[in-house]
Amino acid sequence: MRIVAVVNQKGGVGKTTTAIHLAAGAAEAGRRVLLVDLDPQSNATSGLGLEHVPGKSLYPVLLGQARALDLLQPSRQPNLQILASELDLAGAEIELAGLENPLLRVREALEPLRHDPAFDLVILDCPPSVGLLMTSALVAAEKVLVPVQCEYFALEGVGKILNLIERIKQGGLNPSLAILGILLTMYDARTRLSQQVSEDLRTHLGPQVFQTIIPRSVRLAEAPSHGKTIYEYDSTGAASASYRQLTNEFLSRL
Ligand code: ADP
Ligand code: MG
Repeated sequence: MRIVAVVNQKGGVGKTTTAIHLAAGAAEAGRRVLLVDLDPQSNATSGLGLEHVPGKSLYPVLLGQARALDLLQPSRQPNLQILASELDLAGAEIELAGLENPLLRVREALEPLRHDPAFDLVILDCPPSVGLLMTSALVAAEKVLVPVQCEYFALEGVGKILNLIERIKQGGLNPSLAILGILLTMYDARTRLSQQVSEDLRTHLGPQVFQTIIPRSVRLAEAPSHGKTIYEYDSTGAASASYRQLTNEFLSRL
């Protein structure tokens, strides 16, 4: 079983969209997948068309009041389950800070799943700030995937995350944490800026950058408001094709 965190301290760069479509794509490819929504905004939960059930989220698990395995929700896809989020998770940052070893809570919550033959892959959709939840996800994960929006300052943003990952490794909390790949999102082939950012990232980060690029797509932005993945909402479009291609590249890198 592999645990992959989808991380970027910036909001709106395509983390949740990527987490949803890798989870659904890998499930379609036959992997048994769990998507964990660590963002109190719950976008991954609602993007898959799931209801928020009070108490049925990561929150009580982090506080040691329940087991993750008892709170999973099925999705419409047979191989895909979700550990949802709820607004209370925002408070968890403060409550956890008062407990022993708060940074290990996500790791401990997922530990029983690590040895459970019912799961091949766990994807962690992280909140957009360097708080306790995001850091705990990096302590729990084996690999990190960093979505980067094709815009000015993209390279600086990636540099900050790479530094944070290095600090977590050096600090001994998760020495074997590794970058799985950096993903260019919201690429607009008509703009010079998108091309420039993509060239810069490849120059500086080389093969760490996924070959697959996710284009800017209105259909992709519309899909979550229908509670559908792009594979369901516009299965033959360019965005669907690029997330399918990314899923293949992702699974082969794993
Ligand atoms: P994050 O989780 O990093 O905050 P999201 O995945 O929620 O980012 O994306 C931010 C917004 O942009 C959402 O409204 C989403 O639907 C939209 N979006 C994501 N990827 C694309 C894309 N490739 N093209 C157009 N809109 C996108
Ligand atoms: Mg998000």
